[in-house]
Amino acid sequence: MTTGASTAAAPRLTAAGAGRPGGPALPVINPATGQPFTEVPAASHAQLDEAVTAATAAAATWSRTPLAERQDQVRALAATVGDHIDELARLLTLEQGKPLARAAGEIRSGLSYVESFARMDLQAEVVRDDAGERIVVTRVPVGVVAAITPWNYPLMLALWKIGPALVAGNTVIVKPSPYTPVATLRLGELAQEVLPPGVVQVLAGDDSLGQALTEHAGIGKISFTGSVQTGKAIMASAAGTLKRLTLELGGNDPGIVLEDADPQAVARDLYWAALSNCGQVCAGVKRLYVPASRAGEYADALAAVAATVVVGDGLAPGTDMGPVQNRPQLDRVRSLLADARGRGAEVFFSGQAPDGGGYWHPVTLVRGAGEDAPLVAEEQFGPVLPLLTYETVDEAVARANATQFGLGASVWSPDVDRAAAVAGHIQAGTTWVNQHPMLSPDTPFGGLKQSGLGVESSHHGLAAYTDICVLRVRR
Ligand code: NAD
Repeated sequence: MTTGASTAAAPRLTAAGAGRPGGPALPVINPATGQPFTEVPAASHAQLDEAVTAATAAAATWSRTPLAERQDQVRALAATVGDHIDELARLLTLEQGKPLARAAGEIRSGLSYVESFARMDLQAEVVRDDAGERIVVTRVPVGVVAAITPWNYPLMLALWKIGPALVAGNTVIVKPSPYTPVATLRLGELAQEVLPPGVVQVLAGDDSLGQALTEHAGIGKISFTGSVQTGKAIMASAAGTLKRLTLELGGNDPGIVLEDADPQAVARDLYWAALSNCGQVCAGVKRLYVPASRAGEYADALAAVAATVVVGDGLAPGTDMGPVQNRPQLDRVRSLLADARGRGAEVFFSGQAPDGGGYWHPVTLVRGAGEDAPLVAEEQFGPVLPLLTYETVDEAVARANATQFGLGASVWSPDVDRAAAVAGHIQAGTTWVNQHPMLSPDTPFGGLKQSGLGVESSHHGLAAYTDICVLRVRR
């Protein structure tokens, strides 16, 4: 252990439904200092086997537990986690870097999803019931779910997966990112207080543990959130036993501002649509298209908002934005920016960031980057936003769609009907008007093209944790 910033003892693995010490220590770095603040045990492949065995045994009982009782237990889990928000938020800030209030907000948001799933039904559907035949369609659990999460919203995304998996009658093994395992391991410990052994387990480990989990014959479904590249590797791993898959992958969301919008009125919302969580949001605006005739006004208005943003340690009061979460990501953001500048792009705003060993990057606003610059064509996932200009809306839409990503998009205008009509031409899982991103438990969320497969949230997301069984009775 290095800096003693954590208030809790390092959480342990919850393999086999119990707190386990695990294998070699995995140091966890506080991105605000660049130094390890704690270490957690990494799970061995033998512990993975043990966890799958325990999850399979637990599923035999959990899947037969009446839905109402499962829902009660899921609500009890949400209540217990809710009682520990302060502790969990602090761990989250220490490992992820986001401001403390945002960390607490992430957990509250995740819990609202869990509570929403605990109210959803999985009623059988009677297709036919006549003199000749009765046909009933039921939803059955898939068995053991592997829930694999990234480092940008570790707890919210774990809760998004645990809630529906349990309500549908599955058991879950969560593998958080090796960059952010701490709060998720603590969540696993809390789950042991409420749920039967083996129903929720959390195993920390590197990417190879994730691969072993996705190849494991005892896993029935993989719910993955992370990069496109890893999503493709997981799809290949899943093929061996035809596992069910939900993939929530990266995005390169366009925001298109129509010419009738008022730069002063929309600048703040546009800014946070792009740069909340230090730009590390899957469905954040990553390319901002504004009318060429008003480009100067947008540059000024966005720079004015950016100048008010306080970048610092997430534990410090008043911080609006923390550091980039990890060193490789910081290096990537720096190299995308250097490349864009090398191609002639101009930085029109560069903010303040703390000195020192943390993974700091100032808020940086860029104009004049071409569509082929990787800063525009790829997912930058950091506090750098390219401002792009267009002459016609059709051209902006064509450029917005010229990508293999298709997660989110937004159109901004006081004329919401016109904006909604433009939105109808954009290829994205969700297109927002005058907001971005707005997610809610009753609304499906997923990506088109290479941004994903399937959806999370809503009854569609719940159904994705089930298989369909049909009963046909001849009379
Ligand atoms: P990542 O793909 O590198 O890692 C995500 C998780 O997958 C980690 O737990 C990692 O250990 C594990 N993993 C890595 N290789 C694996 C393999 N071969 N088999 C199984 N598991 C493996 O992603 P990241 O860098 O942690 O997260 C950032 C990415 O996540 C961005 O692309 C972002 O857009 C995306 N994301 C998407 C959504 C969404 O809902 N669409 C939400 C948040 C983040």
